[in-house]
Amino acid sequence: MIRFSPLASSSKGNATVISGGGTHLLVDTGISATRIRKGLTECGLSVRDLAGVLFTHEHTDHTCGLGILSKKDSLRVYCTRYLGQDLRGMAAPSTCFTYIEPGSPVKIGAFTITPFAVSHDATDPVGYLFECEGVRLGYITDTGRIMRGMDTLLSGVDGLYLESNYDNDMLYNSGRPMALIERIESNWGHLSNEQACEFVRQIAHPGLQHIVLAHISQDCNTPDKAHKAMQQALNELQLNTQLVCAPAAYRLPWIELSRN
Ligand SMILES: [Zn+2]
Ligand SMILES: [Zn+2]
Repeated sequence: MIRFSPLASSSKGNATVISGGGTHLLVDTGISATRIRKGLTECGLSVRDLAGVLFTHEHTDHTCGLGILSKKDSLRVYCTRYLGQDLRGMAAPSTCFTYIEPGSPVKIGAFTITPFAVSHDATDPVGYLFECEGVRLGYITDTGRIMRGMDTLLSGVDGLYLESNYDNDMLYNSGRPMALIERIESNWGHLSNEQACEFVRQIAHPGLQHIVLAHISQDCNTPDKAHKAMQQALNELQLNTQLVCAPAAYRLPWIELSRN
């Protein structure tokens, strides 16, 4: 079984707890150390229970809690090599770094984790495939497009944590500077509701138990719009996958994935 609980998910902060087989992981530390500790407590865990802290990329909304979090407890950080150079500058000296590479699986406790490249205006950004006890969870956030090979790697996943960042119309009518709009919708920006649906169409299968829509923009999207778009896609695919939006500033209770 894998269970996971996003502690926060938006451009203001991201962190997710993932557990399986007695191993506990944290993906990203983009909220304050206080909020991460509080979230872990709500999950029945503490920082010392974490077998690893994995990072997707260096943007502040994915990393800002690292400095203070690493001061009190030694963390085992897993990240790509160039991202590591940024993170070493933030983390306390006792932090242990392991470098990972897209396409090369790494074992942490009961998990086998395969990082894969995503397309974002960051250094070496990655998504992850988590596997534990025959259960698989895909984790994709902060990518401007779906990359070739993601569908193959993530085919048959039991759960998906997937960015659904913006609604096209809301983005264009947001009043944001054109340069920012172009950045968001570029290949190095974020996934739209439409792109998220398109990816789910590519990997859809009856065993897909849960989708959590993530990193929903607070100015250029609403949880309702993201949910409606994906629910329509799931209806067309005749799947009864459970669908939920990760709240921007609150913890989403555990989502459980079991072996089919
Ligand atoms: Zn982000
Ligand atoms: Zn980012």
